[in-house]
Amino acid sequence: MLNSRYLALKLIRANYKLLFVFYFFSSISLIFCRPSYCFSLDEDNQHYKKLRYKMVNQQIAARGIYDQKVLQAMRDIPRHLFVPERRQRSAYGDFPLPIGYGQTISQPYIVALMTELLKPEKDDIALEVGTGSGYQAAVLSKIVKKVYTVEIITPLGKAAEKRLNEMGYTNITVKVGDGYFGWEQYAPFDCIIVTAASDHIPPPLIKQLKNGGKMAIPVGMPFQVQKLMLVEKSEKGEIRIKNILPVRFVPLRRVQR
Ligand code: SAH
Repeated sequence: MLNSRYLALKLIRANYKLLFVFYFFSSISLIFCRPSYCFSLDEDNQHYKKLRYKMVNQQIAARGIYDQKVLQAMRDIPRHLFVPERRQRSAYGDFPLPIGYGQTISQPYIVALMTELLKPEKDDIALEVGTGSGYQAAVLSKIVKKVYTVEIITPLGKAAEKRLNEMGYTNITVKVGDGYFGWEQYAPFDCIIVTAASDHIPPPLIKQLKNGGKMAIPVGMPFQVQKLMLVEKSEKGEIRIKNILPVRFVPLRRVQR
């Protein structure tokens, strides 16, 4: 009788040990081997934040962009939320990414370079031609007072407008239309950024640039290497054009879809 009680006690103790071992290893495996769908939103945000800081250090600051406002804006803006979900993991790579309708979000370095070229200031009013995902507009909006942005492809323009509203960018206004003609109603602009390539600089954009203002625009034939140009209008209204570097952009279209 005593013996069987002793045996039963031993069995219970052994099982406790087994249970403890099982519990210990399953917790460890939960911590270290979780599938990605188990990561919380907070961990995801931390992960992308790390990638953003790395992107700014290695792709942007390392290539000579020094405007702290530009660097900070690009550290702060969650670029992965501007690309299709299946591309989010590549959002901080050193390349452009497709955003649908044959269009692309520019490479992070080009976004930074074009923004820095405009020498944007906090009281500036900016115009963007080619809203696309809305990312470039978001970067500019962190620095200037107001951004007007025009997109020719209706579903892209609508999606960008919704995204920017939901993300709380209150100083950006999106319009669907042909940005070749700028946005007369809100002109003149301190800065104009064109994110699609044209074979010439659209005269309406030169006209809508404020005296003392700057415009960054890729100029050249579609589907070839183009030149990124910086157009500067002096205080007296004289135009000076600088060739910055070779780039490759999607073409500036002329027919609305
Ligand atoms: N700045 C965008 C990337 C732009 S890709 C971003 O940050 O995501 C170029 C965009 O210019 C495309 O969305 C294209 O549809 C748009 N576009 C082309 N021609 C245009 C035109 N005439 N007027 C306005 N947008 C135009």
